[in-house]
Amino acid sequence: MPSVVSHAVVAAAAGITFAPRDVPNHFWSLSLICSVIPDADIIAFFFGIPYQHLFGHRGFFHSPFFGLLMSIFIVCVFFRDIEIFSSQWFFYFIFFFFLSASHGILDAFTNGGLGIALLFPFDNTRYFSPWRPIMVSPIGVGSFFSRWGLAVIKSELLWVWLPSCLMVIVSAVIRVVALR
Ligand SMILES: [Zn+2]
Repeated sequence: MPSVVSHAVVAAAAGITFAPRDVPNHFWSLSLICSVIPDADIIAFFFGIPYQHLFGHRGFFHSPFFGLLMSIFIVCVFFRDIEIFSSQWFFYFIFFFFLSASHGILDAFTNGGLGIALLFPFDNTRYFSPWRPIMVSPIGVGSFFSRWGLAVIKSELLWVWLPSCLMVIVSAVIRVVALR
C-alpha cells in the first residue's frame, strides 16, 4: 500500500478540487475514512486469513465493488436528507465511490505485495497495473522508520503528493479564471 497518510492526501485533494463550497463538515471526515478504510483488512493477518484469500489484505475490501457498497452506505446514512437521484445526491454517491475505489487502484501501482481484487465479484484474480512506480509501504509502523520507509516517503511524495497538489492548484486556477 502507499501509506495511510498518502491515501488521506488523495482524499483531501479530491475534496478541495471537486466538492462544492457548502458541503457539511462530516463530508471531510467521511472522505478521509473512505480513502483509508480498505487497509483495515490487514487485521485479516491476525485472524490467520491468508493474504491471497478473498477477505485477506487487498482482496474484497480493496475492490471497487466494496467502494460501491461504502458509497451506498454513506449516502443512505449520512446524506439521507438529500433528495434521492438529485444532482447533489449523485455528486456524493459518485464522489465517495471514486474515492473508496481510488485506494485499491492506487495500491495497484505499488511494486510489492499481492495484487488487488479489482474485478471482484466477477473475478477474484489479484491485479496490478502494468506500470508500478510507487514503492510499496511496509505493513506496521515500526518498519516505517527505516531506509525502506524513507524510500517509500520519497516515492509517495513524487507519485501521490505531487499529482494531488497539482490537481488542487490547477482546479484553483480554473476557478479563478472562470470567476473573472
Ligand atoms: Zn491498501
